[in-house]
Formats: sequence, structure tokens, C-alpha cells
Amino acid sequence: MACPDATPLRSLPQVQRLLESTEAASLVAAYGRTQVLSAVRRHLKEMRAILRETPSAHLDASPGAILAQLAEKLEREAAPRLRRVINATGIVLHTNLGRAPLAPEAVAAAAEAAANYMNLEYDLETGQRGSRYQGVLGLLCELTGAEAALVVNNNAAAVLLALAALAVPGEAVVSRGELVEIGGSFRVPEVIAQSGARLIEVGTTNKTRIGDYERAIGPDTRILLKVHPSNYRIQGFTAAPERSELALLARECGLVAMEDLGSGSLIDLRPLGLPAEPTVRESLAAGIDLVTCSGDKLLGGPQAGLILGRAALIARLKAHPLLRALRLDKMTLGALEATLKLYRSPELAAGRIPVLAMLSAPLEALERRAESLRAELAGLPGVTAEVREATGFAGGGALPEAAIPTRLVALHTPFLEAEELTRRLRLHRPAVVGRIKDGQLLLDLRTVSDAEVHEVAAACRAVLA
Ligand SMILES: *Cc1c(COP(=O)(O)O)cnc(C)c1O
Repeated sequence: MACPDATPLRSLPQVQRLLESTEAASLVAAYGRTQVLSAVRRHLKEMRAILRETPSAHLDASPGAILAQLAEKLEREAAPRLRRVINATGIVLHTNLGRAPLAPEAVAAAAEAAANYMNLEYDLETGQRGSRYQGVLGLLCELTGAEAALVVNNNAAAVLLALAALAVPGEAVVSRGELVEIGGSFRVPEVIAQSGARLIEVGTTNKTRIGDYERAIGPDTRILLKVHPSNYRIQGFTAAPERSELALLARECGLVAMEDLGSGSLIDLRPLGLPAEPTVRESLAAGIDLVTCSGDKLLGGPQAGLILGRAALIARLKAHPLLRALRLDKMTLGALEATLKLYRSPELAAGRIPVLAMLSAPLEALERRAESLRAELAGLPGVTAEVREATGFAGGGALPEAAIPTRLVALHTPFLEAEELTRRLRLHRPAVVGRIKDGQLLLDLRTVSDAEVHEVAAACRAVLA
């Protein structure tokens, strides 16, 4: 038996009647007739399904109520899935949060390229076809001392292209201590297999000597590949040949010495108070023939793969058909050029490139930020907020052993489990992502800008209200 005020199926309004109302007209103006019509049909179908399933259900079937729900649904569906996140994890190169935020100059260049026609492959001087990569390749050579350069979609693509063009058919020799996995999808043995080259492993996990490479070289050997242990370190009883030894051996045997540098720093990070990370210039100066690295790790630019080295090798890469499939778009090229220009004065780079600015932010600045966040949160009833000392990491496959001191704000309230608090902050706009430890929400200020401190406080206020 249906209870007396159950909604009868026949009381649902007709599609046509719903669309004739003035509320529907404003939805049509905002989202277009096709989208609104489809949403109305789906909504009525859902209501009918509920009423068939549960005849006693009470639904508000008035056109006003239905249209209000539709307006909400359409707005939710129109909101972009890709949304801004305030990164309060302290992990500067957080791959899941998009790695490097760009410098304002790079953002402007990408926006300019996005909105307009550009001289992408057009020489304005001659009116003839020009080179897509002209702007960045010269800069890359200037900044690294390389003879020639090339850019592709990411470092994985750079390694793949280099191997496909230079080691196939044939073998690439890699130390067992350098068979790296980065983030699950980039695994050195699998990338080598994809390229068509054959992997020859030498040495052991902890010790590989130049003699191990020497013995592995045969008639099919093409490349001696060194891979930077970006996200781990082998410590203790270890050995690996110097770059210069590897380069010399390759030269003597007519092979290519290649290094996948991973995060690829363009400048010495030690003056910024960070541990040494090999630079592209250093690797090339040691005699490595071809170096690849990412654009959006320590370099702090857009997602890209940089390839630097001998002109004859770069020419072979440029001629390979795979290059077209890996090529960069105009927005990325604009952002990359603008980022690279900021490196022309390395002493200024740290202040202008957000990744470097965050990694080298002095503790006093983090302390100030933490204190101002704590002060803003202290007033909330029942909330305990305190500043804590802690250590963080760079993330994103860079500086794995560098435990960088940082400052956190630990937040606790008896009214809400930490899991629920973090969930609400994730769903807030802008989203705030922190982490939980011992039942408390921790907000790390290394990756939160001064301006964002107030936004984080406002988000906390909103979700605790
Ligand atoms: C990060 C990394 C890669 C992958 O670079 P993407 O730019 O993410 O494709 C490859 N090799 C090493 C050593 C890395 O650190």
C-alpha cells in the first residue's frame, strides 16, 4: 500500500512543460538547449525509476523543484574536472598535483601562444617556413654548453627516442644499480624494450665497475646508458664508474655514452642551501655524448623532455619518424622558452622560478607563514592549531636523500575526524591538500605561498563551520 502522500508517477511534469518555464529559459541561455533537454530527460528518467522501485517515495515533482535540482546538476557538470589545488603537503614536485607551477613569465607566454596565431614554424624575416624549435634550442645550448639540443613531450619520450634512433638494432648497456622505476609507469628495462633495443645488464645492485661495462661490449653494442637514481640512493658498500670513465670507454669503442639525468638541474643547487644534484652542463663536460632530462622537475618549467649533446647524434634523432609523434605544442614551447630565459642569470633564477623559490625558501619565511596561519585558525571555537618543526622532501624524483627542514601547522578539532576534515578540504574550492599524522591534519607551509595562507585559513573556517 502506498502511503497517502506518495508521489504518483503520473504527476511528473512533461518535458515540454518543464522547458516552457522561465527558469528553464535561463538554463537554456547558459548551457544551450541540447544540454538542458538531455539533462531534463535524464532527471525525469531517474525520478520515474525511483518511483517504480519505491512506490511510497515522496518526491517534490513541482517544476520549480525539478528545475532547481537541474540547475545545480548542470552547474556541477559544467565545472572543470581539472581544478586548482593548494598544495599543503610540502612536496614541491608533487607529480599527482602537476609538478612544477610555472613562473609568471612562462604563464604569460603560454597564454599568448594559446590565444593567437604564432610564428611557430614561420620565419618572420624571410616569410619562409621556419623551425618550430628555433627559440628554445639555441637557449638550451647557451645554458648547458651543448653542441645541439632537441625537445620532446617529456623525459620518458626523450629516452625512448634516443634509444630508438641510436641503439636499434642493437644493445644498450645499463648498470644493475640503475634499472630505475619512476612513478610506476617509467621503468628503464621496459622503455628500452619499447624502443626496440636489447638491454644488457652489468654489475650488481650496489657495485658496478668500468670493467663490467668493458666486458659486456660486443659487436651489437650501441649505447652505454647511465641513469640517475632520481628517487632512491644506494648507500654503504657501493661503486660506480665516473662519468668521464664511461665517456672515455664509449669513445674508444665507437659507442654513445648517454645519461638520463631525470630531474635535470640547469644550475648548481648548493648556493641555495640544497644538496648537489648533477647539472646538465656537468654531465656534458665529463664527456657524456647525450643527456636527457625533464622540463617540469627541478628545472621548474612545463612538462617537456630535453635532449642535449653532440650535433651528429641530435641530427639522427631529428631524422627519426618517432619525433613527430613526440613533438611539443606551441603553448609548452612558449612556456619553456620563457622559463629557460630566467636561467640566463642563475643567481636570479631561484627568486623567479617557483620550484626553486619554494625549495630554497628560508626557514624564517616558513615560520612566519606558519605563525600567521596558526593565528588565523586560533580563533575558531574548539580548534587547536600549533606550529611544528618537521622535515620534508622535494618529491617528483628529485633529491631523494635531502630531508629539508620545514614548518607545519597541525590542526585538531574534537568535532571532526582528521579523515573527514581532510576530505572536506579536498572538496573545497580551491581544494586544500594536506596530510594526516597521528589523527591530526598537517599543513606544510613550504608549498603554500604567502597569499595562499589566507585562502587555507578561509577554507578551514568554511569546512569547520
Ligand atoms: C622523472 C624521470 C623520468 C621520467 O621523466 P618524465 O619527464 O616524467 O617523463 C625518467 N628518468 C628519470 C631518471 C627520471 O627521474
